[in-house]
Amino acid sequence: MQTRQNEQKNGDATDTPRIVPSPVLTGGGKLALLDRPRAVIDLASWQTVLHFARLCDTEIKGRGTVEVSGSEFLLGNPFILGQKVNRAQTDDSRAFNAFYAQLASQGREKEVARYCLEWHSHVDMPPFFSDEDCETIAGYTVMFDWMVLLVLNRRAEYQCRLDVYNPVRLSIELPLYVVLPAPSIEIDLMCRQAIEEHVHAKPSLADRFTRFLQTWNYELQSSAVSSPALMPAEFLATPAEEENP
Ligand SMILES: [Zn+2]
Repeated sequence: MQTRQNEQKNGDATDTPRIVPSPVLTGGGKLALLDRPRAVIDLASWQTVLHFARLCDTEIKGRGTVEVSGSEFLLGNPFILGQKVNRAQTDDSRAFNAFYAQLASQGREKEVARYCLEWHSHVDMPPFFSDEDCETIAGYTVMFDWMVLLVLNRRAEYQCRLDVYNPVRLSIELPLYVVLPAPSIEIDLMCRQAIEEHVHAKPSLADRFTRFLQTWNYELQSSAVSSPALMPAEFLATPAEEENP
């Protein structure tokens, strides 16, 4: 139902190209990308993925969920399955197929589509999608309409991409944003006090123009305000000059 609504809205051209506004879709929903998409991950999930990578001096692969909200792919719930690893390879396909089949056998087919995040570590090597990675990614076409792939290393360098399988095959690089928690009370107070001490308002041209109109009791008539010749010099004075005649 949501998918059909999105397709309809997608057809409505607007001045500003934007992703179709929609409620959060579970993974596997059809995409309607009109704006530059990006991946977003909560801090705990990012720390978990990075910690998995840092704890292993071999490659390691994991899974997670993806939800679509507007032009954002929300990554979360990272976990790992049984896998055989070495410094240059990892393969959890057998365990993932079993995981996939188990959910389907429990009548949770819709839920299956949520698990369309795959991430893996390149240990200390540059994060890029190797030919072998691309072969693996291409193989998901029988399971998913699209997937989000993340490769990272122990220096927290990464590449993230969206691969669409259906109705057309394409790959899009995704910038990855980490959602930070709200600052502590200490940081909040420090910032507020520093702003109060050091940051002072500087009236903009529009502010001064408004004040000028109020001072001279001008009525807002377009013919009266459109000519710069009507503006007295004090209107263009800086605040400092005004305060210290
Ligand atoms: Zn790789």
